[in-house]
Amino acid sequence: MKVLVIGGGAREHALCRALSLDPEVTSLHCAPGNAGIAQVAQVHAVDQMDGRAVADLAVELGAEFVVVGPEAPLVAGVADAVRERGIPVFGPSGEAAQLEGSKAFAKDVMAAANVPTARSYVCTTAEEVAEALDAFGAPYVVKDDGLAAGKGVVVTDDLQVAKDHAAGCDRVVIEEFLDGPEVSLFAVTDGTTVVPLQPAQDFKRVGDGDAGPNTGGMGAYSPLPWADPKLVEEVQETVLQPTVDELRRRGTPFSGLLYAGLAITSRGVRVIEFNARFGDPETQVVLARLKTPLCGLLYAAATGHLADFPELRWRDGAAVTVVVASEGYPASPRSGDPIGGLAEAETEDGTAYVLHAGTRLAEDGETVLSAGGRVLSVTAMGKDLTEARARAYDSVAKITLQGSHHRSDIAAKAAAGE
Ligand code: AMP
Repeated sequence: MKVLVIGGGAREHALCRALSLDPEVTSLHCAPGNAGIAQVAQVHAVDQMDGRAVADLAVELGAEFVVVGPEAPLVAGVADAVRERGIPVFGPSGEAAQLEGSKAFAKDVMAAANVPTARSYVCTTAEEVAEALDAFGAPYVVKDDGLAAGKGVVVTDDLQVAKDHAAGCDRVVIEEFLDGPEVSLFAVTDGTTVVPLQPAQDFKRVGDGDAGPNTGGMGAYSPLPWADPKLVEEVQETVLQPTVDELRRRGTPFSGLLYAGLAITSRGVRVIEFNARFGDPETQVVLARLKTPLCGLLYAAATGHLADFPELRWRDGAAVTVVVASEGYPASPRSGDPIGGLAEAETEDGTAYVLHAGTRLAEDGETVLSAGGRVLSVTAMGKDLTEARARAYDSVAKITLQGSHHRSDIAAKAAAGE
């Protein structure tokens, strides 16, 4: 099968890598891709936000299947534009992607489907904001209603900071604070059948010990040795299936990847947010462990045949990914610096490898340059988390990028409790 992947981050590199390992995939293309993706797929300089250009490329290539990675093209209806040309797509319609595109819409769906989540108010005026903040008390949670690339949420004890964030947004969702560890659970769905993947945990703050500002994610690991073995089953029954059923009932069936961001609170599991695509960097560890060839699974979802799909198979052991970020990330990331040690960081047996996020090839066609805040996602497998994280950090140590930084505590607590 000839497959086209849309996007150009480490998530798309992980998707391309897994697809390239699937014997069913005979030809792999990606737009726009990055320097790492170019090693496993043919890359095309097409604007991922331009539905028409993406659909034209798919037709021109004779692509038989398109996988859309990031949220922004999905919310902009890029999957619809490709589907209109009769090509199967993994990724929801623009309407169904509102589950991620609008926090207020997601809250409405959850209320209708009886899905456990934080109590919340949708506010548009300063008076409503003040009332809602007062009703819940500190810590305050203020969310921009629209897509904000992970920067729309402020959690703070400072009332003024909460009010200032709300004042900078058109419409906000203000909600009760949820305590307890967070879990990311992905599910592949065709709009009716839901197939959950294995849970992962990511690290959002920039510094060790969860210090500093929020980022797109600084690392992840899977599985979660501390989690209740019944967690996936419970979330399937109380969150994933009811949400998919509710969206179908509304006439906007959701097919693609449903990502539930969960808090395991003292009062039970609560949904923090939904995303309409694979999460980054959790995808890097979840796909590292997935033994079932990826293309067949995604294609079954895109064509409505998940009910007949065989049970997923998983590799034993654990996976850890550590994000290497550029100097100044997240506030003002620096780009254009050469990256060294990429080949040395990979092991011959494939237990450690480097996924590219923000990279590009220099004019010489060889030197890899940084091109963004999150630059690399160094991923490793092991018999357990302790071994996987040791391998990941060995690899990180071999990479040179001036001024770069990474967290040194990814999966440390979970490994200590193994
Ligand atoms: P979101 O974009 O909704 O995932 O929010 C980003 C991050 O903000 C989450 O991963 C949580 O760490 C935090 N967060 C969001 N909502 C809440 C909440 N109700 N209570 C506590 N933390 C939250």
